Amino acid sequence: ERKAALAASSGPGATSDGHKVPLLANVGGPADVPAAVAAGAEGVGLFRTEFLFLDDSANAPSEEKQVEAYRQVLEAFPGSRVVVRVLDAGADKPLDFLTPADEPNPALGVRGLRSLLDHPEVLNTQLRALATASAGLPVYLEVMAPMVADRQDAKAFADACRAAGLAAKFGAMVEIPSAALRARSILQEVEFLSLGTNDLAQYTFAADRQVGAVARLQDPWQPALLDLVAQAAEAARAEGKSCGVCGEAAADPLLACVLTGLGVTSLSMGAASIPYVRATLAKYTLAQCERAAAAARATDSADEARRAVQGVLSGE
Ligand code: PEP
Ligand code: MG
Repeated sequence: ERKAALAASSGPGATSDGHKVPLLANVGGPADVPAAVAAGAEGVGLFRTEFLFLDDSANAPSEEKQVEAYRQVLEAFPGSRVVVRVLDAGADKPLDFLTPADEPNPALGVRGLRSLLDHPEVLNTQLRALATASAGLPVYLEVMAPMVADRQDAKAFADACRAAGLAAKFGAMVEIPSAALRARSILQEVEFLSLGTNDLAQYTFAADRQVGAVARLQDPWQPALLDLVAQAAEAARAEGKSCGVCGEAAADPLLACVLTGLGVTSLSMGAASIPYVRATLAKYTLAQCERAAAAARATDSADEARRAVQGVLSGE
């Protein structure tokens, strides 16, 4: 039955009553594009550009090398959205030319947008390369910053995008609790939000994503994490803007239904998960997803949330 459901799974992501939830792919560069296209991704929801540069972490990548890599990804999705994340260096993704060597707590230090604001030439080169790469292509380019903490961060990123003359929407990742709590103020500066639930869980539970001993607290079914997702999604809805999820949470089919019920507007994941999420989402109405989301948030643990959602969606 599962095989049949997957075989029947194609086309745009939607609930059984036709509420559309675009299913996008997470990619790390041109090598990931064929699998994303084969899975029927409706675009790219997270292009992790730092992975292009990990092979030479001592030097900033040349503008030409960046243009080439961006163009290869952008060309593959005519008529679709491609959301490019500017360099997210530091903590679990160190780059020698950007990441301070002597930080006691790298995850709490100069990483993501913080390092780009300290090295504006790196950010500006990347934005220029994206402008060149997207020129003349029929793609909807969106650019977002990792690790936005507050409105001041969002404004600094938006100002840099405008100064670079980039014809793109610009957005903020929500992966720090402060950004979820004050999502509405961040949306005064940017056009969309994207929830990075991997880091959002790490920072909400003070649980390092690289430390297996605290994996229990990294579980994206934790009701506290769902509360923050709901808060960001409600702020985006109130502002008439989009709010996607691009963390691992989006790849869990039942959790994808819960996120949809919380008001998330798109889901981005590794290509291999897209058929499963599409098939599961197609089984339930938006109202069922909303009931599942409410049931999950009414619990006090990730395990209880999972059980509550299984109960609601199996019609108990
Ligand atoms: C996240 O933090 O959820 C995310 C999507 O970004 P990364 O995993 O690359 O930090
Ligand atoms: Mg992150």
